[in-house]
Amino acid sequence: MANSIPIDWQQIHTVFLDMDGTLLDLHFDNHFWLKHMPKRYAEKHNIPYEQACNILMQHSNATQGTLDWYCLDHWTTTFDMDVVALKHEVADKIAIRENVIPFLHHLKTLDKRIVLLTNAHQKSVTLKFGYVKSLESYFDAIITSHDIGLAKEEPGFWEALAKYEAYDKNNSLFIDDNFDVLDNAKKTAIKYLLTISKPDSKKPVKDTQNYTAIENYQQLIH
Ligand SMILES: [Mg+2]
Repeated sequence: MANSIPIDWQQIHTVFLDMDGTLLDLHFDNHFWLKHMPKRYAEKHNIPYEQACNILMQHSNATQGTLDWYCLDHWTTTFDMDVVALKHEVADKIAIRENVIPFLHHLKTLDKRIVLLTNAHQKSVTLKFGYVKSLESYFDAIITSHDIGLAKEEPGFWEALAKYEAYDKNNSLFIDDNFDVLDNAKKTAIKYLLTISKPDSKKPVKDTQNYTAIENYQQLIH
């Protein structure tokens, strides 16, 4: 068992939690975008799988880090494919990470405000909650960057967030698996930041730079 991560819970009022790769296994998203979507695109246009991968990757590279990249409607319109329906086809891969539920339960017993803060599109959030039903009830608020109008890695995000969710940066904990997102939170001076050592269960442990990384949420239950 990994060592416990010291957290001064008395100092923390709000816990902001990312969804994909943080609470849920990123394997679903990687599988969907890098394998399933290209496979269906190749079938639709009767082209080789590799060519489909290249076309989708080019568009991904051109839009990464923007709201469009995270927007299911954008991908649906751009490629004339029903992305939500395609996600349902591989939804058996949607999974909650180990000990997330005991962790959320722990936060409840500590009376923390729990906010889901995701770049995922609302349709993706709805779809995922449909498959992992135990998750949704833990959140006091669910905020997507599409509500805010800025992705979490974009300048001004945390200032804009304050209009939707009052928070004190000195009393907030934010957990996310994306370093651009964490760097932006750090610049905004969100005081407590944590990342995830292995967002995709099928991939190796990541280099988590200077951020303290969670291997297992049991490390935060103490
Ligand atoms: Mg994430």
